Amino acid sequence: MNGHTTCVEAVHYFLQQIEQDKHLNAWVETFADEALSLALTLDNSFKTSGKLNGSLHGVVVGIKDVISYKGHHLSAASKILKGYKSIYSATVVERLLAEGAIIIGRQNCDEFAMGSSNENSAYGPVLNPVDNKKVPGGSSGGSAAAVKADQCMISLGSDTGGSVRQPADFCGVTGFKPSYGRISRYGLIAYASSFDQIGIIGNNTEDIATLYSVISGPDEYDNTLIPKKDILHEVKKPLKIGYFRQAIEHPSLDREIKQSFLDFIDELKKQGYLVECLDFELFNYVVPCYYVLTTAEAASNLSRFDGIRYGSSDKKNITDLSSLYAINRSKGFGQEVKRRIMMGNFVLSAGYYDAYYTKAQRVRQLLKKKTIEFFDNVECIISPTVPSPAFDLNEKLRDPIEIFLADLYTVYPNLTGLPAISLPFFTHSNTLPFGLQLMCSPANDVNLLLFADELMNLQTNRKN
Ligand code: GLN
Repeated sequence: MNGHTTCVEAVHYFLQQIEQDKHLNAWVETFADEALSLALTLDNSFKTSGKLNGSLHGVVVGIKDVISYKGHHLSAASKILKGYKSIYSATVVERLLAEGAIIIGRQNCDEFAMGSSNENSAYGPVLNPVDNKKVPGGSSGGSAAAVKADQCMISLGSDTGGSVRQPADFCGVTGFKPSYGRISRYGLIAYASSFDQIGIIGNNTEDIATLYSVISGPDEYDNTLIPKKDILHEVKKPLKIGYFRQAIEHPSLDREIKQSFLDFIDELKKQGYLVECLDFELFNYVVPCYYVLTTAEAASNLSRFDGIRYGSSDKKNITDLSSLYAINRSKGFGQEVKRRIMMGNFVLSAGYYDAYYTKAQRVRQLLKKKTIEFFDNVECIISPTVPSPAFDLNEKLRDPIEIFLADLYTVYPNLTGLPAISLPFFTHSNTLPFGLQLMCSPANDVNLLLFADELMNLQTNRKN
């Protein structure tokens, strides 16, 4: 805050924006009274001391409905968690509040973060602010739509296979998934624990970097975190950038997206960057490998939702423990979540474990090995974020496989732990935005954000 706008004014502004564009359905709930009272406290403290209450003083943040905020409802956009209130706050929430941020509400998403269109939500779909007939992407669709519609300054989403970057691409904003182990998952509802990361959706890389510096870093409650702080590696200039031949030659890639991508590569070369086309023979295995492993992890993670300890529970017609599980889970979970639990239990079942689960684990190891080779050669890798721009609401609901396959560019960083960002680079002739994805080697998040900023400036100058 520069002293011209008070925190109270800022919160009023965003609440009004949310109200005005209610039809987008980006929010499950706003915390209006609490946000206003915190804003007032921040304003008063600034008035008396002349000092800001932390590096995020008055920054208005929205959180996806999978992140715990003590005393507030939390549902993962699922009926099975109806009425549940968080009994503790996620580490990211604690860190935001400690630096003076204001959490204005929780945002709509796909149920348990499973999906790519935000149509799998118990609260109904979110509309894309750019074109209301289109989906905003998913699973963090509400978080991306809210930033695009100016309903908060920045959002926290979660990204297991693209759920921050893909909606950012569809809505024309910036979405960042850090390296696995950079941001604590304590207080995040788990979908596939070895893939999940909390990510940030914002208007630009600078805002994202500011928030990232506050919420990232070791946490005693999550032992999968990388103990070391980010180191800024000396980057040799000119920067060497790679892209995958198989990604750019993929038949599902929209022709215009491909052309814009190739034109940008020409521009990079003109600007003196070294650009190399990389061979990635395993490219076609990334989506199957992702869906075998994430459904397996999901089946295990979601077994705790039984309606006994928390969430909605139907006491009628229950004759024994099995019927209690069956009734609560049948009523509580939506179709997509059930599909994934069934797939996960299938790949983990005694007869198929080796054929699917073990094999996918092996593929994941190969991908990690290959990734080290790629980054011995280049500093970052670029690709389109999604093979097509936002599709129509209801268009793909009946074809889950088609939706799964469209994750071909976003799941690779989650399989290998890379940091990745989607930048709002391009506009399609149908006026929809689409993004450029940038990836760096694991734990190289700050360099990724710096490169992203550099390329974003280059693209902005090119457009002007
Ligand atoms: N679309 C992917 C899926 O449904 C990604 C989800 C996510 O990143 N949470 O699994």
